Amino acid sequence: MEQIYTFGNYLKSKFGCKVYKVGINISGFTCPNIDGTVAKGGCTFCENDSFSASTNEIKDLKGFYLNLDSKTNPNLHLQLQQLKSQFNTISKMQREIYGAKKFIVYFQSFTNTYAPFQTLKALYDEALSFDDVVGLSIGTRSDSITDETLNYLAKLNKDKEIWIEFGIQSIYDETLKKINRGHDAQNVKEWIIKAKEKDLSVCGHLIFGLPDEDKEMMLQTAKEAYSWGIDSVKYHPLYVVKRTALGNDFSKGKFTPISEEDYLDILVQSILLKPKNISVQRITAGIDDDSLLAPDWCRDKNKQVKNINKALKAFGLKY
Ligand code: SF4
Repeated sequence: MEQIYTFGNYLKSKFGCKVYKVGINISGFTCPNIDGTVAKGGCTFCENDSFSASTNEIKDLKGFYLNLDSKTNPNLHLQLQQLKSQFNTISKMQREIYGAKKFIVYFQSFTNTYAPFQTLKALYDEALSFDDVVGLSIGTRSDSITDETLNYLAKLNKDKEIWIEFGIQSIYDETLKKINRGHDAQNVKEWIIKAKEKDLSVCGHLIFGLPDEDKEMMLQTAKEAYSWGIDSVKYHPLYVVKRTALGNDFSKGKFTPISEEDYLDILVQSILLKPKNISVQRITAGIDDDSLLAPDWCRDKNKQVKNINKALKAFGLKY
């Protein structure tokens, strides 16, 4: 059985030890698709109300949000404290439980290049100064990163491992409109190619099961994304949570989630189409709490992975 090339395999062979990503949520960060700059309400599947409540955990930062035009940031010191505190807590646990030796700081929630450059620079520099940190991974939208930020990341990349994670989701503009994505596919393509020209590492996020997409469209999205030069991929099924526009559509019978059978089929085909050098960082997604409306198979991650491995086995592969 051939093991699929995972991000873990990549890190192990590059650093020779266990490298873990430390997921960080910084208060004050938001998304142009939520704050009204591009759109309001966010992507139709994004539960952004609870997102802001959970990430704005510092009392003094309640109601404080940055954007690309913010002239000052009076709360940078609090954000730096928050970064350090989250890193220390999570990395300590990863060392103790999983034997992690080195770390990549993962700016995870919302749009992590959507702030003035001096704020981003301070946060990225601080993260790279922590013990045993070998790099950064920055989750963002392609319409919210500037040349100044990209150039700075390229500079950091000379000594450290710098990743940018872009939400691609679909290459079809009609789908991106339906999910209120707020940018088109050409914009993602351009910024991925730009990042690659600067030698940065790129992870692309893909969603299978978006409204009105068929198998052919989903496979075409995967093929196109691979051809843009991404280094790593995260595959997600679209699941529906409460308090979202998609949740409303689902409740009214206007949206049918992808079945597990179809997801497995498209996932396996996408992996077979994938160039071998692109690592897989995520193979499915779900949530096991009462916010999940559907599909029910997205509730149990262990069962999902077991079924994925069963489907891969038929092609001599395992995850
Ligand atoms: S880009 Fe991300 S954070 Fe912004 S609305 Fe969409 S899913 Fe939510």
